Amino acid sequence: MSHILMSDEPPAFSVLNEHGQSNVVLLCDHASNRVPKQFRGLGLDADQLASHIAWDIGALWVARYLSERLDAPLVFSNYSRLVIDCNRCLEREDLIPATSANIAIPANEQLTQEERLLRRIHFFDPYHKAIDALLSTRTSQTSLLLSIHSFTPFLHTQDRPWPIAVCYENDSVLSKRLRIAMQAQLSEAVGDNEPYAVEEGIDYTLPIHGAKYDIPAIMLEIRQDEIATEIAANSWGETIAAAWTKMND
Ligand SMILES: [Zn+2]
Repeated sequence: MSHILMSDEPPAFSVLNEHGQSNVVLLCDHASNRVPKQFRGLGLDADQLASHIAWDIGALWVARYLSERLDAPLVFSNYSRLVIDCNRCLEREDLIPATSANIAIPANEQLTQEERLLRRIHFFDPYHKAIDALLSTRTSQTSLLLSIHSFTPFLHTQDRPWPIAVCYENDSVLSKRLRIAMQAQLSEAVGDNEPYAVEEGIDYTLPIHGAKYDIPAIMLEIRQDEIATEIAANSWGETIAAAWTKMND
């Protein structure tokens, strides 16, 4: 297999607190804006790579906080969704987007089938194999998948008022309890499948792993301006942890 990563670059994914005792398994698909050196920033400038098109700003801080606070394992991707989006079904165009938010991604515009396959083999597959390996060791525990994402405060001109949202596909029971427990601590409305629902055929991580292990799967979406610093992200981590603990009392 040809090499993409240099010896000083991190692997495709990381696992924290692998043997954590919580029944929550945390996932962070869009944790990083890192691009392999060999890809030369995909032809984007530093500001574009720092922006939300490359990653979910603040999401990894929240996920790390929750991992420690709940004693929960966390699997996260170490590379940008512009390299390959670990939460997109393989047949979708935006798996390796040629544009994002009207910004062209030059290095993604003329990819060969082989180059697409190499991205999958080096980044997408190892991340999902790591999630699968972790879940396969937890057969005696009932697990819940909790994936942490973040969203932009505005989409085009549309304001997105929710600071946090509980999003799901099938699991309406646990997600409703979590939403109510969080709402009890907050004055602003908690989003209910807004701004996104989890959708089979679009999203990959929760539908695929949730169905294979027949476990509930919830996506938490947090507005990026709420978690722009690590201190603010930790505070949201505490709000989520407190809601989770309360609903399990
Ligand atoms: Zn995301």
